[in-house]
Amino acid sequence: MPDTSLYRAWAQIDTNAMKHNLRVVRRAMPQHALMPIVKAEAYGHGLEGVARALDDEDVPFFGVATIAEAARVRDAGCKTCPFILGPCFPAEREAIVQNEWRAALSDPAEAEHFNALGKLYGKKVHLHVSVDTGMGRAGLLPHGLGEMADLLPRLEHLHIEGIYSHLSAASEDIAFTHRQIAAFEQAVQQLSQKMSFQYRHLCSSSGVFNYKVPCTNMVRLGRILYGYSPMPSPYNKELQQALTLFSRVTLVRTLPDNHGVSYEHTYITTAPTRVATIGIGFGDGYLHYLSNTGARVYLNGSYCPVLGRVTMDQIMVDVTHLEHVVPGDVAEIMGPNVPWQELTARAHTIPSNVITSISSRVPRVYLSGEEG
Ligand SMILES: *Cc1c(COP(=O)(O)O)cnc(C)c1O
Repeated sequence: MPDTSLYRAWAQIDTNAMKHNLRVVRRAMPQHALMPIVKAEAYGHGLEGVARALDDEDVPFFGVATIAEAARVRDAGCKTCPFILGPCFPAEREAIVQNEWRAALSDPAEAEHFNALGKLYGKKVHLHVSVDTGMGRAGLLPHGLGEMADLLPRLEHLHIEGIYSHLSAASEDIAFTHRQIAAFEQAVQQLSQKMSFQYRHLCSSSGVFNYKVPCTNMVRLGRILYGYSPMPSPYNKELQQALTLFSRVTLVRTLPDNHGVSYEHTYITTAPTRVATIGIGFGDGYLHYLSNTGARVYLNGSYCPVLGRVTMDQIMVDVTHLEHVVPGDVAEIMGPNVPWQELTARAHTIPSNVITSISSRVPRVYLSGEEG
């Protein structure tokens, strides 16, 4: 592990927690393959570090959002194939074909183009048919399935490896989710008359523990991989959070009564107050929306409230009640004592927003020795 003593803020990543979380899901659904999602800097955990740590976990794909992320998986030396989850630009298809990455297929013209590229480069193009069952973001609408079913068997350079869709409200609208599941089953059945799919996948973290989709044999895991399950389930208590965000005290002073703290003085002391300045701000991903929300950090065994606005590089916390605080002391910003759900609620956002906001200025420190 690197020496963190001069880091103002860093994220400690426990890749064993992620491996454990994969085992929890495997136990819940032993028949399903697992696709860890490593997009968006692996939800803030560091793309290369996470991809390398999970490369031997017997997973067929790593989910990514862009060609650049796919290239980073490859350049990290991983053998696991990147799967690009959303639509790609025509100019990106060449890289997909040459690298044999997996991509979504959402319209006939795209299929023809991929087929032509496959011919040009002498490669099979491995694609997953994307079906829009209600998310309204990508894929074929149900009325387009017939044309695709007729076209695909004629495109000899394509290997249609899978079919998938995405749930839009699994945690909120059970009735609608069941309609999406029915639409997916219907699409799989309709297209299976013309081709066969090695992988059929619908559920991501909201969904895996709560819905049965008999025609599927793979699930895509983002939040659950990192320790957060968005829906109630008996498995949730077994999940382990993989990331702890730390920062250090840079200065400790006593401010007099009636002294403003931070921009625009949204907080003013009402008594002499011991204030610690801490080296993390919204430039590191500690959201500005946490200003004046009762947000707190965990420092030397107790909670210390954040005073006034979050600034770009620093926050101020009240340490009047602490016996001993000196520069260099470590504060937990997010982790076992300050769960990301707490920050999510205070910032009025969603958990993925909190963790993907952790910026590139924050070094990722891997407990189990992977490099970032
Ligand atoms: C981001 C993404 C996921 C991962 O979602 P989680 O809810 O975090 O598990 C799965 N599938 C698709 C298509 C995505 O874009």
